Amino acid sequence: MDIKKNILSIKANLPDNVKLVAVSKTKPNEDILTAYNAGHIIFGENKVQELTKKHEELPKDIQWHFIGHLQTNKVKYIAPFVSMIHAVDSLKLLRAINKEAIKNDRKIEYLFQLHIAEEESKFGLTLNKLEEIICSEEFKQIKNVNLRGLMGMATYTNNIEQIKNEFGGLKKQFDQIKAKYFAEKHDFNELSMGMSSDFELAVKNGSTMVRIGSTIFGERNY
Ligand SMILES: *Cc1c(COP(=O)(O)O)cnc(C)c1O
Repeated sequence: MDIKKNILSIKANLPDNVKLVAVSKTKPNEDILTAYNAGHIIFGENKVQELTKKHEELPKDIQWHFIGHLQTNKVKYIAPFVSMIHAVDSLKLLRAINKEAIKNDRKIEYLFQLHIAEEESKFGLTLNKLEEIICSEEFKQIKNVNLRGLMGMATYTNNIEQIKNEFGGLKKQFDQIKAKYFAEKHDFNELSMGMSSDFELAVKNGSTMVRIGSTIFGERNY
């Protein structure tokens, strides 16, 4: 894999308003440094232990995005440095993030994850559940976190129509939530959707953040 070439060509082809999260999970530090030395600083990880280790060992100006399912009791390990948490799917988790953000005297950026895929295995909130959280008293009181938008994952399928519908549906829900609750909140403006196999479709459907791993770094061996 020519990591430098891959990352530069993906970035050259993304619209200006779309950010690239280079998903480096399972990949060694030297691969991350290759991308970093090509001028990239946003990386995504989905395991707490792996992320904290990489954060310790790699340049401090890297912006680390946590993109996986996060357990409440592990928030404390990433709260001091994490740049954005993509997949908040409960008030309980948000409460834990806020608590750790207070301890670290910082504000942590996050996205709510909506469930858009057909598969039951994928995490995420229903629109109803999301609105329930947004309307709760506790949500309004939480001050050390900053909601930047929504995230979703499409079904893993070759059916392009289905993926299009799922991304289109998420974009519609994003617009609805924004209009209904955050019309005045100008930094509620991120929609994290799209991975190696489907990011072009995601961008066409309004993604502002794509999370790309294997197309940059090669297939993962677990
Ligand atoms: C692994 C992962 C990605 C990247 O997947 P690729 O297919 O390698 O691009 C994106 N988002 C999440 C949440 C992931 O866990």
